[in-house]
Amino acid sequence: MGVQGLRWTAGRGPLTSGEDGMEELVEVHLVEREGRKLCFFPGLKLLCEPDRRQWERLRAYVEDPRGSADAGFQDVRDLYRDLQRQFSGRQLWWHTEVSGLTLIVATDCNMRCSYCYAGQGSYGRTRELMTMDVAEEAVRKVFAHFPHVRQVRFFGGEPFLNADVIRGVCGLITEDLGLRHISFAVETNGTLITDEIVSMVKEYSIDLGVSLDGPSSVHDYHRVFRDGTGSHDLVVANLERLREGGVRFAVVCTYTEKHRPMVMGELRAYLRHISPYYQISPCMSHDLTTVVPISREDRLAGLRSAADEDSGYELQPLQQLSSVFSDALPEHFCDAQSRLTVFPDGSVFPCELLCEDDFYMGNVRMHDFPSSDFNRSRKALVRFRRSGIPRRYWFRYLVYPLCIAEYKSVRPMADIRFEETSGEFYEDLLLVAGELATDETRHARLTEAIQHIQAMRGQE
Ligand code: SF4
Repeated sequence: MGVQGLRWTAGRGPLTSGEDGMEELVEVHLVEREGRKLCFFPGLKLLCEPDRRQWERLRAYVEDPRGSADAGFQDVRDLYRDLQRQFSGRQLWWHTEVSGLTLIVATDCNMRCSYCYAGQGSYGRTRELMTMDVAEEAVRKVFAHFPHVRQVRFFGGEPFLNADVIRGVCGLITEDLGLRHISFAVETNGTLITDEIVSMVKEYSIDLGVSLDGPSSVHDYHRVFRDGTGSHDLVVANLERLREGGVRFAVVCTYTEKHRPMVMGELRAYLRHISPYYQISPCMSHDLTTVVPISREDRLAGLRSAADEDSGYELQPLQQLSSVFSDALPEHFCDAQSRLTVFPDGSVFPCELLCEDDFYMGNVRMHDFPSSDFNRSRKALVRFRRSGIPRRYWFRYLVYPLCIAEYKSVRPMADIRFEETSGEFYEDLLLVAGELATDETRHARLTEAIQHIQAMRGQE
């Protein structure tokens, strides 16, 4: 995926009137931020910087799109028609292939984080570890039926509670099945890392994401063991062990109310000091007192610093900017539409967060997997297409990944990414994209950073 996909025009010539004939109203969103005036066409993913006259006419159009006396309406439709012709070969990107497998190798955890959205690792299920028999059945059947799978991710609970099965699966795939192009990933709480685990991670080049919320004063408030003691010092010591072993890892910080007294710049510096690869994600707890939004100013600063030489690789802003600069228009929502997730009992769902009956895909232990359940679930997923989202969400093509579980949820999460109020953030995203599109040095650094992250994740 390249990073030139954003169609940028500046100071386009005067708009002209033309014949009427378009059946649909043209969709256009105007952004006025920090003295810049931008116009965004969601359907084409086109960002323009109009001149003053164009801006006035576009604004008149937006205020009264159906006004027949409004010349701006005709102008915008003409512009849109031109652009449609120009980019008519572009197809919306819609994943139909299953390309990833998640094995929930443990519905159990050695920790009891207070904000855990996964029921302290159990997902409300029996606390158990996946057996090698189930793992092997899952791997053999999935690779036999879904030849486009490129990545296997081990998840929990705490996946390293079941390190033997992780090693067994990596060996089965790379050695027994000879599939050396498959990449592996583990998301861990970082408390169980031993020398054996370090050598396994190196041997199979496993991508590691390790949870670390910041300094102990913040991390130890929520991320505790069963006896209530904090895990910060152990995690940091284990990260040192990984570093000494030459293992690259990303740190994943869950942003909660306990971060509030901290200046965001300090938090970023702390995480960057631990690893250049870091992520700050809003908390997804059911306990809404822990869920606080990251302020607009802090998110805007993150977007701007993503193109700075010394900023490391903050994953979320890079992902958000890459969705603007992507060549492809993502019609699908998220990985759930291209991934299978297998629980220790063999049951299969698209994602650990989509475990309702509607999405049940069968059981790898059944001889007929994948059965009609699989097809029914995939049909249920197809409903989630961006082109079906109401137009008032003009930024629907900029939100990526867009969690289906969040989108479906009626839970009033403070930072749900798909509310009308989120539009303000996406206006900021376009503002920064416009700045970067016209700044060669920073655009080059952004390109390098996005390509670096994509290469690490084995994306094209
Ligand atoms: S380590 Fe992860 S799975 Fe375990 S309790 Fe904490 S958030 Fe939940």
